[in-house]
Amino acid sequence: MQDDFAESLLGWFELHGRHDLPWQDDKSVYRVWLSEIMLQQTQVAAVIPYYQRFLNRFPTIQSLADASIDEVLQLWQGLGYYARARNLHCAAQIMRDQHDGKFPTSMEDTLNLPGVGRSTAGAILTFASDQSWPILDGNVKRVLARCYQVTGWYGQTTTMKQLWQLAETNTPDSKTDDYNQAVMDLGATVCLKSKPKCDQCPLTSNCLSFLHQTQDRFPEKKPRKLKPTKHTLMLLHRYQDSVLLYRRPPTGIWGGLWSLPEVDDIDEIADWQERCLMCQYPTLSISEKLIRHQFTHFSLDISVAEIELRALPKKISDNENIEFVEFNRLAEYGLPTPVRKILK
Ligand code: SF4
Repeated sequence: MQDDFAESLLGWFELHGRHDLPWQDDKSVYRVWLSEIMLQQTQVAAVIPYYQRFLNRFPTIQSLADASIDEVLQLWQGLGYYARARNLHCAAQIMRDQHDGKFPTSMEDTLNLPGVGRSTAGAILTFASDQSWPILDGNVKRVLARCYQVTGWYGQTTTMKQLWQLAETNTPDSKTDDYNQAVMDLGATVCLKSKPKCDQCPLTSNCLSFLHQTQDRFPEKKPRKLKPTKHTLMLLHRYQDSVLLYRRPPTGIWGGLWSLPEVDDIDEIADWQERCLMCQYPTLSISEKLIRHQFTHFSLDISVAEIELRALPKKISDNENIEFVEFNRLAEYGLPTPVRKILK
């Protein structure tokens, strides 16, 4: 253990760390788990209202396990990375069915829960069960990469191996919860991605990047690849005050959410209607690119074909994943953000 590294951080944490986050109050393993999953790839300020709403509706593991996936996704909508919500729901059911409704206490069982990787497991067991495990979330990676001038980017095995080794050596056996919170807080509030506030940092004497003024070179970036752009045409079938929605498959983009049906181009609209509605309707208009939505690995340009139905199709194929939904009931459905924008 690098005593001075941990000591400097712990001293700083007492004065400047975040001590009043909602999941630090009335701490339970369920609350900590929920917050850690929500905080993956999302900042604290964005998470707080979602966390509170979610906890009000699902105050226990049991209540989450017994809920429908639709209700879980509906509360999650807007937070993104929906696989997290599906994994939470599935993990709650595993706990209900295999762990007596309780969160596991061993690292091995925790790592077997869907959506829980090594860093998240370490954080949960440290914060909620007083155990001592290192963590390596995005903030911690950045602090360590700068302090030790770690070469390579996070997608490289050797780089990750080195970062985990550094995380292990620096994590103290006692006060691990404070230390883990401290290093996350330092990354989130001082060792910022751009323009780190080194003048406020307790680690200047440990930090090679500060010593050599190479803060902007570390962490090293992934070599840039141009992000591809994909196109889709969404079908907005309207009947009076209803719109046709379909539920997307459980895995993949927006998995399990309700959305507008999609085709690649205008020539496929009639075919889709024939297949799913058993009749054809004329298209009123097609917008040019209406919305560009950014995913991590590509951009999606969305156009919308508007189709007004004079009568409801006699038979909406036997597919239970297709529904006409009144506009004033849309709030009850989990919809991807761009689809919600289109429907507004
Ligand atoms: S000295 Fe600067 S670069 Fe180094 S850890 Fe602190 S804030 Fe980050």
